[in-house]
Formats: sequence, structure tokens, C-alpha cells
Amino acid sequence: MTEKNESSIKKMAELLRRGATMLALSCPHCVSQLLKVEDDIYCATCNRRVVIVESDQEAEAEAVKVLLPKLRETLIGKLSTLTNILESEDNPEELTKLANLMVLLLQALNRLENMSD
Ligand SMILES: [Zn+2]
Repeated sequence: MTEKNESSIKKMAELLRRGATMLALSCPHCVSQLLKVEDDIYCATCNRRVVIVESDQEAEAEAVKVLLPKLRETLIGKLSTLTNILESEDNPEELTKLANLMVLLLQALNRLENMSD
């Protein structure tokens, strides 16, 4: 075993002891298995932080996925409020505005339904 390998294994062991977790990802530079240290991804062999763009995008997609049901609920709530207003509104100008708004909300809802597939 080379000295470099030995020190990286020691480093890895130390990080694991301190609560780091092994990731199913390998370092793009040296193909060593990466560690997650708090919020950072770390390569013990390169001895530096590694930024994995893919996992950032996944995290973003996850965040959006969590947001979608809430957004859907809000849109449906607004549509139901709008329906009540429409019912009691007789002014054509106001009705036009309300109808336009309803179309926008329905489009947003429709787009949302397609996203969650
Ligand atoms: Zn590395």
C-alpha cells in the first residue's frame, strides 16, 4: 500500500468516526468513494471538497417535489374563492378580469399536474 493511499484511508476513517457518511458516489478526480461531511461532499484522497453538480440538481428537484402539493392546494383554494366571487359578480368588466385570472390559475394547475407525473 502506498503512503498516499494509507493516509487517505486514515483520513477517511477519521472522518467516519466524526460522523461522516459514505456516499454511493465516486470522486470525479480520483474515483475514490466520497464522504458526506455535514453539508459538504469530501474526497479523502484528494483531501478536498468535491462539488457534484448532479446531486445539487437532484436536491433542487426534491425541493420542488415537496413544494408541489402545497402549491396545488393553494391554487385550488384560490380557484374556489374565485368561483364564489364570480357567482356574485355582475359587472362585465370585473367578470372579464376574473375569468382571465381563472384561466391563468387553471393553466398553472394544469402545468403542475404535468410536472408531478
Ligand atoms: Zn478524489
